[in-house]
Amino acid sequence: MVGIPGVGKTSLLKRVVEILTERNKTVSVVSFGTLMFDVAKDNGISDRDDLRKLPVIEQQKLQKIAAEKIAGMADQVVIIDTHAFINSSEGYYPGLPEHVLKIIKPTNFVSVSAKPEEIYSRRIKDFTRNRDTITLANVKKELDFQSGIISACAVISGAPIKYVLNREGKIDEAADKVINSLGL
Ligand code: ATP
Ligand code: MG
Repeated sequence: MVGIPGVGKTSLLKRVVEILTERNKTVSVVSFGTLMFDVAKDNGISDRDDLRKLPVIEQQKLQKIAAEKIAGMADQVVIIDTHAFINSSEGYYPGLPEHVLKIIKPTNFVSVSAKPEEIYSRRIKDFTRNRDTITLANVKKELDFQSGIISACAVISGAPIKYVLNREGKIDEAADKVINSLGL
């Protein structure tokens, strides 16, 4: 599952797990960033939101380690909470470059979107995170870039992309779409 910061991936996946648990089904959710952060902590990074500020070469090494951890998971269904691209100081760089896709071999992509105004306000209202506060025009640019980059991932992997709109206050509706698109 990909989506730009503040679109609601983590909230959505929390709801997906709750709904599936009510139906006596299980699914594992892993946060790609958290896996990277667990490794980065040993190298002196103390805030998860500082990962994107590392030199790209360092982020690439962490990505590979995280991908290998995921590939080693024995769970039947694993949903990865991640980003199609990372807003680094060197520019947008892919969250799922070809070498990572080859390791994790995704079967499906879910691309989460929302109205730019909603994403913008979710970012500024969420004090639990150190997200970059950017202009509304930049949120729109990020959404455009996300569709481009996820299309490339689909071509490389041969996996379909489901677009899910996470409307304000309608998280259950979006969670149902995710569950149905994955046939869970
Ligand atoms: P990141 O990539 O930075 O981790 P994220 O996509 O995981 O971001 P969340 O942390 O899940 O985003 O959500 C960001 C904020 O938006 C949170 O405060 C969350 O409560 C709120 N939010 C998410 N989805 C909705 C929704 N459908 N309606 C209203 N608020 C929402
Ligand atoms: Mg998140």
